[in-house]
Amino acid sequence: MSKPRVHIIVLGGTITMAPQSSAGIVPKVTGAELVAAVPSLAEVAEIGVATPFLVPGASLSFPQMQQVNELVDRALEEGAHGVVVVQGTDTIDETAVLLDLVHRRAEPVVVTGAMRGAGAAGADGNANLLAAVTVAAASEARDLGVLVVLNDEIHAARLVSKQHKALPSAFASVGFGPLGHVVEGRARIVLRLARIDAGIGRPMPKAAPVALVSVGLGDDDRMIRAIPELGYKGLVIEAMGAGHLPGGLAAASEEVARAMPVILASRVPGGPIFANTYGFPGSEIDLLGRGLIGAGLLSAHKARLLLSLLVGAGRCTDEVASVFASFQ
Ligand code: ASP
Repeated sequence: MSKPRVHIIVLGGTITMAPQSSAGIVPKVTGAELVAAVPSLAEVAEIGVATPFLVPGASLSFPQMQQVNELVDRALEEGAHGVVVVQGTDTIDETAVLLDLVHRRAEPVVVTGAMRGAGAAGADGNANLLAAVTVAAASEARDLGVLVVLNDEIHAARLVSKQHKALPSAFASVGFGPLGHVVEGRARIVLRLARIDAGIGRPMPKAAPVALVSVGLGDDDRMIRAIPELGYKGLVIEAMGAGHLPGGLAAASEEVARAMPVILASRVPGGPIFANTYGFPGSEIDLLGRGLIGAGLLSAHKARLLLSLLVGAGRCTDEVASVFASFQ
């Protein structure tokens, strides 16, 4: 029987990094070299590989991700059973959700990377690549949207985040756990997350500029008030707890929400933004009543990407609110 075809798109990240002549590791290893280092990939799938660029995760841009999205589409249109995107772990939680917001096909798209450089003792890159290809080739992984696979765990793009700066077990879906695991060379998926259609359409629209303001103890409202004059078209506020701000920030948030969509997210990863529990100034009831839109289960960074695409696609504030309502 012929093997499934999996196309691997390598963007850089620690998995491709090796020492340079001055200090530190930098992206160096190409996709072809990564694939050559894991001969057992050929037992799982017929592999195609491309290296459109080699950059750290933090330097990936919206236009580059539009290009990646086109490469994913092209590979699937040409008959790949699944696609693996290999990149820096610093932004996997963001790129995975960005791709997921516009991926409507059944084939799995899997994002992976590594926490240890290519030459480090106990480097996790080879194992992560093999696990990611195993998931991308698996019929069980169809219809789950974009997945993130590291440390043999299979996570949903919209729930996963990087929770540790160093460990191979850095990725977690806080409050939920992974959808499944790769064990004995098989993708074992025990939970299936319903897909949400954000109605953004294809190709991926140009992202509108959206600011993200994180609020801390004793903050004042200067950053929030400055957003409209800086040319932003939307704002995400990373608030506290279940969606709470210092009371003195409520009026400025309302003023900005009259000019552009303002999303209320939280720095706490588990659980949704509340809607009707707390009644103090700056509480979720106060802020939603002033026109802010709850981020639901999305982190502030993921909410920023969704809002960027929605505004980029020309959606008005009411339309933005109804899409965010489906992410509750
Ligand atoms: N700094 C690296 C990057 O995101 C981290 C990693 O890949 O793990 O490119």
